[in-house]
Amino acid sequence: MAGTGVFAEIIEGEVYKYYADGEWKLSSSGKSVSIVNPTTRKTQYKVQACTQEEVNKVMETAKVAQKSWAKTPLWKRAELLHKAAAILKEHKAPIAEALVKEIAKPAKDAVTEVVRSGDLISYCAEEGVRLLGQGAFLVSDSFPGNERTKYCLTSKIPLGVVLAIPPFNYPVNLAVSKIGPALIAGNSLVLKPPTQGAVACLHMVHCFQLAGFPKGLISCITGKGSEIGDFLTMHPGVNCISFTGGDTGIAISKKAGMIPLQMELGGKDACIVLEDADLDLVAANIIKGGFSYSGQRCTAVKVILVIESVADSLVEKVKAKVAKLTVGPPEDDCDITPVVSESSANFIEGLVMDAKQKGATFCQEYKREGNLIWPLLLDHVRPDMRIAWEEPFGPVLPVIRIGSVEEGIHHCNASNFGLQGCVFTKDINKAMLISDAMETGTVQINSAPARGPDHFPFQGIKDSGIGSQGITNSINMMTKVKSTVINLPTPSYTMG
Ligand code: NAP
Repeated sequence: MAGTGVFAEIIEGEVYKYYADGEWKLSSSGKSVSIVNPTTRKTQYKVQACTQEEVNKVMETAKVAQKSWAKTPLWKRAELLHKAAAILKEHKAPIAEALVKEIAKPAKDAVTEVVRSGDLISYCAEEGVRLLGQGAFLVSDSFPGNERTKYCLTSKIPLGVVLAIPPFNYPVNLAVSKIGPALIAGNSLVLKPPTQGAVACLHMVHCFQLAGFPKGLISCITGKGSEIGDFLTMHPGVNCISFTGGDTGIAISKKAGMIPLQMELGGKDACIVLEDADLDLVAANIIKGGFSYSGQRCTAVKVILVIESVADSLVEKVKAKVAKLTVGPPEDDCDITPVVSESSANFIEGLVMDAKQKGATFCQEYKREGNLIWPLLLDHVRPDMRIAWEEPFGPVLPVIRIGSVEEGIHHCNASNFGLQGCVFTKDINKAMLISDAMETGTVQINSAPARGPDHFPFQGIKDSGIGSQGITNSINMMTKVKSTVINLPTPSYTMG
């Protein structure tokens, strides 16, 4: 159970502590932030509302801890990460329980998130020892006008203190996708978890403590992003920000100083369906891609662009599958569970009502109870409807019927977002041309968009992000290149 057994020390009374300088602490603010269970809509947990002074202290200790961590042999860093991964997996049950209660993630998916996170940490350790275990050796005479009098040795060095801010929908996985690369590369890490998902993150951080990471190297500061977020992201002690979330990331990128940024933001992933597509495969992927975790995934299918001649048939197939989705509490492992907050549910409802007013066809009746919204397919959506462009982050999926592939590509590229997209056709040549034309970080051919496997590059363009994630890319991003040049008095040619 969350907050018991080995996790008993991370809670005092009913309030979870924050983690700094190798210890679990109560904030001097004396205040807490409530985490409302999306299903019951009652306070489930409370976390510390940390102060700016506490953030300052964490930054100081993170700086000191990083210096000695950078001198810790790479194999030892990897060993500790493997240990943390094993401990995390061992304690998957209480962490998954927190995910069910805080973010209404279906029970089985919650366990999968924790296990996947353990695997991700181990992969970081393995990739890191290889990637960081080698550098480059350059000689000067390959550039015109030079003799071989200079040898250049390069290696990858850590950036310093990495600030990690994950979103609510994969709080553990998207936290470790920043923590693993940062630590193996020799950085220290300050985590600001999402408020919904903070308790799962605190448990995850405790697994790193149990693994024996040095004090101060990892810290976890809790509090509302709107209150301490700016102070954290503009803090002079931060040397790199890795953020995943919504438009907040755009504001952060404008305020942050001259430091590397990794921004994984929203998406409006289009699913383009051609006449020759296998419609059963498309329908199955639309259900998985559009409705898993109630559509609260950055890479959810968020608009279907289907060629008119096959649209009726596809809509019928998707409708039949929507009717089979189970709707209810996450504890019962239902397909569709309550969305994360009342304000999210209200926002989704606003998009639905706008589409209704403007004449979209409702394939199911719109139904909502509290934060629980029944899955809804909206047909005959037109570009003047908000749902054609905005990210609902809920179980509502628009279908736009298109007259040509070009029309579909045009709609996809007219979006502010450019995270992923997908195309369904049996003609691989056409698929390649469409993929090249789509202005998105990734295009999936004959499958729904997806972030994993976690070592694949993952990036958004336009308002969907800056930089690229994926284990290798994240390790590279959290390091910089250092060169040492050996200058010889005379040219030297090996075996010359
Ligand atoms: P969000 O509202 O942007 O919040 C993300 C994180 O930012 C949370 O930890 C939040 O903390 C924090 N935050 C809020 N205000 C801040 C500020 N001023 N400074 C610094 N941090 C601040 O996003 P969300 O609702 O959690 O997640 C949904 C969004 O994430 C969607 O748009 C989705 O597409 C996107 N997403 C993108 C990816 C990707 O990889 N591209 C993956 C998953 C999700 P609090 O919770 O305390 O407010």
